[in-house]
Amino acid sequence: MKLVFIVVAALLTIATSTAKGGPAGRTLKVYVIPAPDVPMTIVGPAKETVRKIYSRVGILVQYSPVFPKGGQAHREMAMVVRISTDCDEPPQGGIAVAQPYEGSWIQVRYNRVKWAAKNPVFTSTLLGYVMAHEIAHNLQGIARHSDTGIMKARWSAEEYTRITVHELRFDPHDVHLIDLGWQSRHARP
Ligand SMILES: [Zn+2]
Repeated sequence: MKLVFIVVAALLTIATSTAKGGPAGRTLKVYVIPAPDVPMTIVGPAKETVRKIYSRVGILVQYSPVFPKGGQAHREMAMVVRISTDCDEPPQGGIAVAQPYEGSWIQVRYNRVKWAAKNPVFTSTLLGYVMAHEIAHNLQGIARHSDTGIMKARWSAEEYTRITVHELRFDPHDVHLIDLGWQSRHARP
């Protein structure tokens, strides 16, 4: 019985430390800069979705209420996520863009997510998943996609269903690549 208590206590410790940002205390600062016509009622829950996704892989996402000053995001190794509408950007293909080899800048096109607008809850969840996908590109530091999970190039109907209930996860290989990318980002002088 004592052993059971020890195991339970150990599991609780792991759960607690993961919720706080993982055993290694990994915290990722994220600046989200939406275009003025993107509803905050969508952006707020989307940010929570991102936070939930990353807490599952031991990374605590912290949002900053103020925009980064010149060079600040780079120094903080933060992510800057701009949510644009097609009105203020040239119409190009793709739902979002990341810079895996440069590291911190992401652009998400809100109008490409808006098809789900009949269901605002789904729209915000989907936006959160798109943001999480792009952030992972930058964290991994390589341009690649997976056959399964959040890092799949195109989600299928089955994956959209899992997104609806917040159950689409990173493939274990992607979690490993995020870990490797994190180590190399933080090992830089
Ligand atoms: Zn991608």
